[in-house]
Amino acid sequence: MTAAETDAPRSVLITGASQGIGEAIARHFVALGDKVAVVSRSGRGPEGTLAIAGDVSDTESVDAAFTQAEDAHGPVEVVVANAGITRDQLLMRMSDEEFDDVLQTNLGGAFRLARRASKGMIRLRRGRIVLISSVIGMYGGPGQVNYAAAKAGLVGVARSITRELGKRSITANVVAPGFIDTDMTRALPEAQQQTYLGAIPAARFGDPDDVAGVVEFLASDAAGYVSGAIIPVDGGLGMGH
Ligand code: NAP
Repeated sequence: MTAAETDAPRSVLITGASQGIGEAIARHFVALGDKVAVVSRSGRGPEGTLAIAGDVSDTESVDAAFTQAEDAHGPVEVVVANAGITRDQLLMRMSDEEFDDVLQTNLGGAFRLARRASKGMIRLRRGRIVLISSVIGMYGGPGQVNYAAAKAGLVGVARSITRELGKRSITANVVAPGFIDTDMTRALPEAQQQTYLGAIPAARFGDPDDVAGVVEFLASDAAGYVSGAIIPVDGGLGMGH
């Protein structure tokens, strides 16, 4: 479903679009002619978007940002839960805070967003919910018990939404990027980056636009019968999971 096909720009909301993958996703929807709101703590966003300051780990903040997007652009038809953080630490040293912070942002943030979005989507009788997970959710990662748990949890969220709201023409899907070249991965030690590179059949790191194209597809008419799916965008890194 593109703006051109429906003759009306869609109201789209993306979290964590101040940089990296989220920013690329936002740029793609702006290029389609949609009305795009982006939410991040810094309140930054790419040109052509309504940039809103908000924190996905806080319910009131999510609800306020969502209302601001609706007031400006109308009922949100496409929502992308992309905001994410890492707090890597070996299991035996991981604090409760490091575990909880990552769960609250990556998993709780997606829950809060989907819950708030569902109200308008049920009324609209259509909607697209896309949750940005990670290959790590299925593959696991040393030092990433918190992150892997949160990213795997998104699968349960999308599949439960699919069973709950599928009959209302609302889809919920998971996109699982592999190693994408952003600030998040540039922060990894060089040796770890090279280990990942060696394990990627495509023999290259992904680009944020690789992920954005798949999100664009999931929000399109062509994907109307795709729901509860996990779509890897990882150059083959996670094959078999
Ligand atoms: P990034 O460059 O670190 O960007 C993260 C974004 O999330 C920023 O816009 C950040 O903006 C926002 N954010 C963080 N905490 C937030 C909060 N509490 N509330 C609202 N916004 C928040 O990360 P990225 O690499 O683009 O990753 C984007 C998503 O893809 C994440 O969910 C990540 O787990 C997932 N992913 C990334 C890779 C990869 O290789 N890069 C692979 C698999 C999955 P502010 O700091 O301004 O809030």
